[in-house]
Amino acid sequence: MASALDAGLGEEWLGLTRQQLCARVAERGLPAYRGRQIFQALHGRLVETLDEVRELPKRARAELGAAAALSPLRLDQVFDAADGARRYLFSVRGGHAIETVWIPDGERVTLCLSSQAGCPMRCAFCATATLGLQRNLTASEIVAQVLYVLRDAGRRSGSPRPATVNLVLMGMGEPLLNYDQVLQALRILADPDGLHIVPRRVTLSTVGIAPKIAALGREPDRPRLAVSLTAPTDALRARLMPVNLTYPLADLQQACLDFPRRDGERITFEYVLLDGVNDGEAEARALLRWLSPLRAREAAKVNLIPHNPAPGLPFRPSPPERIARFQSALRAKGLPTYVRRPRGRDIFAACGMLAATSSPSA
Ligand code: SAH
Repeated sequence: MASALDAGLGEEWLGLTRQQLCARVAERGLPAYRGRQIFQALHGRLVETLDEVRELPKRARAELGAAAALSPLRLDQVFDAADGARRYLFSVRGGHAIETVWIPDGERVTLCLSSQAGCPMRCAFCATATLGLQRNLTASEIVAQVLYVLRDAGRRSGSPRPATVNLVLMGMGEPLLNYDQVLQALRILADPDGLHIVPRRVTLSTVGIAPKIAALGREPDRPRLAVSLTAPTDALRARLMPVNLTYPLADLQQACLDFPRRDGERITFEYVLLDGVNDGEAEARALLRWLSPLRAREAAKVNLIPHNPAPGLPFRPSPPERIARFQSALRAKGLPTYVRRPRGRDIFAACGMLAATSSPSA
């Protein structure tokens, strides 16, 4: 099944920065500026094959074409939600399934990307966790998700890319456990000769791998940070998110306090509301307490995520009035708190539902 993907993938061209592509082209005896032309075509004009790079002399196209397998993804299925969200189920080399979600919002669109096939984090409320980790994605596979989905959107709408594209690393996987490939992909996507999706339009969401948050803070061009918190005490968090046994809340808090923020920037804390588990007054108070050093610096905001039920998950979503009460408790203390509207629930595309489900309502 994955044979087409297994063939000729040595090059992983889409995972090269413009500079690396120029060097690679030069090694093959072409002038380096050809590398820039190829980069502009692949990432700026979204061409699918080197044959469409008309600036390249025919011979060069043929020579390079033999060496370059351009798409590391194979589309298996697409699902359209009633709210306009679209879920793409792809296979990658090795036959693993990954998913990407297109989330339109007026003139803007948000693309939710996977960073790993499966996920090793075992969060008790997340459907992706049931898959376990299959493997890290390569930079090329991460970049290709964006190229594929934007190309498809262009074909569907007959117009070029949407005015504003935001990226969220909130699909399958824990992006900070695939640090180098994720950052490489973001460098490629930010290049002004390509898609030019700048880091402040990108949000990386993590379960809270404290030392990697520190590393991310040292990057010159880094995405925005979101931390999946979901519980304000160690006992509850360890039960819901086993990562807490390795990086308890104190470590996570220190990493967040040390994270160098740009002007006015806040770290987003995601909090999945589970009925009767973490959505009461006591938890709201504990959350405010845990966030207080960050609140004092205006460094935090909260995104409440109504739990998206999925088969096999032993939790129920909090009823709307409990969600509203939890939100008001936080807002009353001046903490910016939003409720994330679930998108694409009917096609299993919403947060925590990406489990490579191949029917829209399994
Ligand atoms: N591993 C990273 C990236 C995935 S982001 C992380 O966990 O941050 C996916 C987001 O959806 C996380 O905030 C996660 O806590 C949340 N989530 C997981 N399962 C969910 C569910 N069933 N309903 C709603 N949100 C869920």
